[in-house]
Amino acid sequence: MNTENQPLPIYIIGAGIAGISCAQQLQQAGHLVKVIEARDRIGGRIFSSPFNTHTFDLGASWIHGIVDNPIYEICKQFNIHTEVLNYDQSQYFHPNGQKFSTEETLEFERYYLTVAELLTKDKNRSAFVSLQQIIHTIDYTDTLLNKDQLKQLLLSFFERVANDPFATDLDHLISNYHDYEGYYAGSEVVFPNGYGQVVNQLGKDLDIQYQTAIQTIRYTSDGVELIDQHGQVYLGSHAIVAVPLGVLKQKQIHFQPSLASDYLEAIQQMGFGSFNKVFFELEQPLACFENKSKDLIISSYYWVDDQVFNVLNLSKIYQQPTYLMLFGGSMSAWIDHASDHDVWQMITNSVKHLHTLPIQPKQLIITRWGSDPWSHGSFSFPSLQYSHALHDVFKRPIENRLFFAGEHCHPQYAGTVHGAYLSGRHTAEALMHTTTSQSDI
Ligand SMILES: Cc1cc2nc3c(=O)[nH]c(=O)nc-3n(C[C@H](O)[C@H](O)[C@H](O)COP(=O)(O)OP(=O)(O)OC[C@H]3O[C@@H](n4cnc5c(N)ncnc54)[C@H](O)[C@@H]3O)c2cc1C
Repeated sequence: MNTENQPLPIYIIGAGIAGISCAQQLQQAGHLVKVIEARDRIGGRIFSSPFNTHTFDLGASWIHGIVDNPIYEICKQFNIHTEVLNYDQSQYFHPNGQKFSTEETLEFERYYLTVAELLTKDKNRSAFVSLQQIIHTIDYTDTLLNKDQLKQLLLSFFERVANDPFATDLDHLISNYHDYEGYYAGSEVVFPNGYGQVVNQLGKDLDIQYQTAIQTIRYTSDGVELIDQHGQVYLGSHAIVAVPLGVLKQKQIHFQPSLASDYLEAIQQMGFGSFNKVFFELEQPLACFENKSKDLIISSYYWVDDQVFNVLNLSKIYQQPTYLMLFGGSMSAWIDHASDHDVWQMITNSVKHLHTLPIQPKQLIITRWGSDPWSHGSFSFPSLQYSHALHDVFKRPIENRLFFAGEHCHPQYAGTVHGAYLSGRHTAEALMHTTTSQSDI
C-alpha cells in the first residue's frame, strides 16, 4: 500500500490510556506514530471535568491498589497529587432506616466473606444461581440479624457487587468473576485534581488528530488503510485498534476483510456493561451519612425493596457537602437514557426513609456512558460465556498488521485503567517484535 516508498506511520485508533501508552512506547522506540481520536479530547473513559472550582472524574477515579501499580508509578514520576480513598469502611442501614449496630455490621460482613469465599470455588456458573444456592445452604445458627432478612440482604449486596465493579446484574455475571478484574495490593487513591493529569502527561508529545472517527479499516499483509467519517483515507504500516469493546460490539468500525470468527466471537461473548456516577452537592450535609472518624471517607449502604444503594461522602475532598452514588447494571442502563429530573427523583425517593433531600440539589452531575457514542458502555465484565481464552484472541495480530489494545484485552486486569495501560504497552511490544522481520517500517 506504500506507493511512494516513504515510511508509513503506525496508526493508533483511540486516545484512551491504552492507545496513548501504546503510542508513547512505539514513539520512544523511534517509530512514526499517529493517534486518531473521535472525541475532541484525550483520555476516553478517563475524563476529568471542571465544575465551578472543583474537578470531577466522570470516568475512572481510583487507582486500585498502589503497590507496584504502573499508574501510581506515573503519578510519582510526574508529581501528580493523589489522596487515599479506601472503600473498605462501610456503614449499613436497615430497610427501616435504622443503622446497623457494630455487632450487626460485623456479623453481616462475616457472612459476606463466608459467601464470597465459597463463591471462589464455584466455577463457570451463573453467579446468581451459584449465590442463591450458597446463601440458602450456609449455617445461620445464632444470628443477630433475622435469618430470612440476612439472606435477602446478602443476595442484594452481592447484586451490588455485580453492579460495581462489573457494570452488570448478577444473572449476567459468571460465578468466578473474582478471576477477572485484578487489583493491586495497597491503598486505593483518587485524584483531587483529576485522573486526566495521568493521560495528559503520557500523551503530551504525541501527534493526536481529534474529532476523527475511523469507520473502515482495510488490511492486507502489506499495510493498512483507514477511512474516517469524511471519507479521508490514511495509509499506514500498521493499525492498533484501541477503541472500547462497546464500539466493536456495535460494529461501528467495518473491517475489510471481515474479522475471523474467533475475533467476532470474543467481541460478542465478552460482557460490556453500564456503570454510571451521580455526584450531587447540597447546601447542608446529610447527617445520616456523616463520618465521625478521622478517616477520609465512608461508604454508606442502604436497602430499599431488596435493592442496595451506595453513597460515598466526598465532602472532605471537596470541602462542600458533596456525595457520589454509583450505579451499575440495569439501574445504570436506565440512567443512560433518563433525564436529570428523573434521576434526582429516583435518588430522592430511595433515600427518603433516611433523609429528605431538597427538590433541587445545588449541583447535580450525571454520567451516561451507555449512551456515549464513543464508548457504548463503561467497561468489560466476565459474562456467562467467559473464559480467559477470549482475551488471548485479542493478543493475536491479524496479518501482522492489525493489532488490538484496550482494557478488555488484558487477561489479568481487564476493566481497569492499569489494565488498559498495560495492554497498550504489551501491544506495542508485540508490534515491535513482529517488525524486526519486516523491512518497510
Ligand atoms: C464510570 C466509570 C468509572 C470507572 N472507574 C474506574 C476506576 O475507578 N479505576 C479504574 O482503574 N478504572 C475505572 N474505570 C475503567 C477505566 O476507565 C477503563 O478501563 C479505561 O479508561 C479504558 O481505557 P481504554 O484506553 O481501553 O479505552 P477508552 O478510554 O474508552 O479509549 C478508547 C478511545 O477510543 C475512541 N474511539 C472510539 N471509537 C472510535 C473511532 N471509531 N475512531 C477513533 N476513535 C474512537 C474513544 O473516543 C476513546 O477515547 C471506570 C470506567 C467508567 C466508565
